[in-house]
Formats: sequence, structure tokens, C-alpha cells
Amino acid sequence: MTEAGLMADAPLESIARQLGEWDCGRPGPTLLVIAGMHGNEPGGVHAVRRVLGRLQELEAATAGRLVALAGNTAALAVGRRFLDRDLNRGWSAAAIAGLRERAAAGAGGAGLDALDAEDEQQLLLLEEFERVLATASGPVVVLDLHSSSAFGSPFLLFADTIDNRRLGLSTGVPMILGIEETIDGASLEWFAERGVMALAIEGGQHDDPATIDCHEAVLWRALDYLGMLAPAQAAGHDFGLSEQAERLRRAVGDAPSIVEIIERRAITPADEFEMAPGFSNFHAVAKGTLLAKDRSGELRAPRAAIVLLPLYQSQGEDGYFLARPVRAFWLHLAAGLRAMRCDRLVSVLPGVRRDPDDSRTILVNRQVARWFVTEVFHLLGFRKRRPRGDRLAFTRRFSLPENRRLAR
Ligand SMILES: [Zn+2]
Repeated sequence: MTEAGLMADAPLESIARQLGEWDCGRPGPTLLVIAGMHGNEPGGVHAVRRVLGRLQELEAATAGRLVALAGNTAALAVGRRFLDRDLNRGWSAAAIAGLRERAAAGAGGAGLDALDAEDEQQLLLLEEFERVLATASGPVVVLDLHSSSAFGSPFLLFADTIDNRRLGLSTGVPMILGIEETIDGASLEWFAERGVMALAIEGGQHDDPATIDCHEAVLWRALDYLGMLAPAQAAGHDFGLSEQAERLRRAVGDAPSIVEIIERRAITPADEFEMAPGFSNFHAVAKGTLLAKDRSGELRAPRAAIVLLPLYQSQGEDGYFLARPVRAFWLHLAAGLRAMRCDRLVSVLPGVRRDPDDSRTILVNRQVARWFVTEVFHLLGFRKRRPRGDRLAFTRRFSLPENRRLAR
């Protein structure tokens, strides 16, 4: 099959976990690319293979190393999002402790059926992630390649740290803030907890060949941003960097550059959720627009918003997301406040105290501290966690340099 005729959603019958590695032995960052965490999203696999092929063809003298891993190989083989459960959930520390317990019980003969297909995938991936982190001589950066069932501009999702924002901005692809507050336990969280820069890239629609192009373009831009490409080769036309940038500009079109998630429609099969036809990523809707139907009736937009990830496939736990644009002013202010380490002062605010068990978490009494809560803590780099009794818990994300200092 020629590459031009390759459909992005054709199942990859048999696929190895390790898609390839490019390492010239020069110091530098490790770029870890994860492709196909969802088995019906093979576009990223094709994209990273293209990049590895081109690096090899050019005998590119890169700094650092590029490591490419397939996510859910069992689901990729049959072209389904997952077999038993979503592999892109269950990456919180508690969920992984539970997984390891089940695995140990299974190994001890206590429950051989305790592990489902994705448990096995996750254990193998964890081993690979740990290997990559343990063998890295410089910073590690993760790009997790996804696609969606709807058309529309590509976009980025990430745990909100300054480093992730900078890396995201370098790609020129719209950024979505607030995903980690609505989805628990995505693999990005595992990396964020370890101070690793990590972005998920929604490259476009599953079976659109342009999705492979977008993923490929983001990979080249990231390699360039991270200083991994030899300057002489990067400056020449060897990697087609300006064409890649132009390709992304066209794919993005007039989508807003930064939006913030304000609502996630969580669904289960029992809801009989059905998205109304015709929505794409970044589709702007007016208040009252009919978005979907489920067994309770019609679901309408509670306010003017931007629709993301409308679900047009049978598997998935997110019906749609609603978002709103973020003004650049707030982003600059946030970066400034964080650079001045204003977060150190938050515990002097009324109704706010640090969690005695976790210095990164602050507990906010909702009766006392009401009006400023979410806005102020977002600006300072805290992300909202679940309510604990009458308090809200906000957890601070480490940014890379700080974490690396701690690690040494
Ligand atoms: Zn996905």
C-alpha cells in the first residue's frame, strides 16, 4: 500500500510495542512519543514511523533521543478504542497501586483472571515508561498522539504547567486548558506527577489521512523546539520545517489559540447518548443549541460555548466537552504571578490552609473563601481536585526545572 493511500484508521494487524528509537549518542532531551493509546487511532503510529524513517534516511545527527512506543497494541490489532476498558484512564497513583496488587495476586495464583486486556497493556507500558525515565540523561518530553471521531482543527491537551504551555505554544496548535480537572487518571497525569513535560495531541479525525500529516508536523516542530535537530540540517530544507509549520497553520484555520474546558458530558452505555449530527471540534454554539439526546431527553448548551470532542463512535466515556476562549491577558498574568512565586503566599488567605499531609495541596473552606477561589488558584498554577467535605482541594503542579532540582 502506498503511503498516500493509507487510511489512518486501518487496523494494524500485528504491532510491536517498540515502534523505533533514534539515538546518535549525543546528550540532549528524550522525546518519548506514544501512539495508539486508543486502538482506533493508528494515525500517530504512521506519523512517528514517517519521522523515524526520515531521520534514518538523512542519517540525521540529532541531540538526545527519540523513543516511539505503541500504546494499546491489542486494541490497535483490531481497530477498536479498547477491549475491556479505556487504557488512557487508571494512571493515578492509587489506580496503579491497585493494578500492581491485582497483578501480584494473579502471579501468586490467587486470581488468574484478575487482569483484563488493558491491565496487561498498562503493566507493559509502565515498564517501558519507567525504562525511558531511568535511562534519560536529560529532560524527558512526552507527546501522546490521539485522534477523534469528529472533524476539526487539531489541538493539544495537557496538565497545566508553564513548561507544558511553552512547549504547546511552540507548536502553533490550539491549547485546551482544564482537561485534568474533568478527566481523572489519564496517562498525562502519570507524567505530570513526575515533573515530565507531556502533551496529548488530537491530530484530527480518525480516518482522515491529514491527521497523520498533522501529527508528523507536530513531531518535527517539537524536535526543532527542543533543539534536537542539528542546526545546519534544520536550517536547510531537510526536514521541511517551514512546510510543516504551514501545514499546521492551514489545519488550525481560525480556531482560537487557547480555550478552557468548562463542562464535560460524562456518559455510560446506559445513558443511550447520541450526539446531534454536524458538530466538529471548535464548533461555536449559542446558548440553548441542541447538542445531543439521551434517555433523559434533550441536552442543550447551558451557555454560548465551543464544542470539543463530540462523540461519533460507540466506545467512549465523554459525550462532548464545552469550552470557552481564554484571554491572553490572564495567561501573561498567570506566568508573572508564578514566576514571582506568589503561590507561596496563598495560605495567608482567609479560609485557606495547606494540607498537612501534602505540601503541594491546599484546602479551601468554601464557606469562607468563596468568590476568588477557582480564578485565583488557576492563575497560581493550582488545579482543582475533588471536593473533600466542605472543602475544595487544589494541587500544585511541579514545573520541570523545579522538579529536576528536587530530583538531584
Ligand atoms: Zn484517543
